[in-house]
Amino acid sequence: MKKAGKILILDIILALLVAGTYFGLPYLEPLIRNSPEVAQEIISGIENVPDAEDVQRLIREDELDEWYLMLVNPDKAMPEDMEVQTASVEGGYEVDERIREPLEQMLSDCREAGYSPQIISAFRTRADQEFLYDRTANKNDTAKPGHSEHECGLALDIIDSSSAGWADPLIDKQEELPAQKWLMENCQNYGFILRYPKDKEDITQIIYEPWHYRYVGKEHAKTIMESGMCLEEYIETLKIQ
Ligand SMILES: [Zn+2]
Repeated sequence: MKKAGKILILDIILALLVAGTYFGLPYLEPLIRNSPEVAQEIISGIENVPDAEDVQRLIREDELDEWYLMLVNPDKAMPEDMEVQTASVEGGYEVDERIREPLEQMLSDCREAGYSPQIISAFRTRADQEFLYDRTANKNDTAKPGHSEHECGLALDIIDSSSAGWADPLIDKQEELPAQKWLMENCQNYGFILRYPKDKEDITQIIYEPWHYRYVGKEHAKTIMESGMCLEEYIETLKIQ
C-alpha cells in the first residue's frame, strides 16, 4: 500500500478513535477531549466504523510494503527495477544508505563492549552476485542473482576478526566467537536480525548462517529475535488472518 493507502488508514484510525469515544469506549477519551469539533465532523461522515482489530490488521498489512520488510529469498526475487542508494561504510563496503547509521552504531557498541567485529560482505551489485554464483561449485551455497539480500543492500556478513585468517570463516563455529555472540544477542536493538537461524533451514532454504545480518527495523527485529521465528514466518503473521 502506497501513500494514498496510508492516508486512508490514518483517516480510518482517526475516525475510529473519535467514533469510539462517542460510543463510550474509554480508551478513546483523550482524542475527543482535544478536538470535539473534528470528532463531530468525522463521525457524521462515517457509516461503518471499523473495529480495533480491523485497524490493527490494516496497519500490519500496510507495514508489509515498507522497504525494511522486503522479502527476498530463493522463491522470491527482488524487484527487477530496484535501485539501491548506497552509502560507504568501513572496510570499503557499501550498504543501503538507510541502514548505515544503525549498522555503525551496532559495530561501535560491539567494539565498546570489547569485541572485534569485521564486515566481510555487504552490498553486492548484480554483477558481483553473478560472479559469485558462477564460481560457486555447490549452487545451494550462494543465492541466485536477483535473490540475494546482499543485492538489496539490506544485509551484510560480519565475522569476529579473529577468524579472518581462517580458510573459511563462514562456518558454524563462528557462533562461538565473542564478537559474534555479542552481535547475535544485541543485533535486534539496532534493527537487525540473524536472518538464517538454526533449525529454520526448511523454511528459509538457506543453511544456518551465524554471520548474515539483515535490517528489518528495531520493532520487527525485536519481535523476530525474541520469538525465534525466521523472517518468512514473521511476515506470514502480518498478513490477513
Ligand atoms: Zn550473507
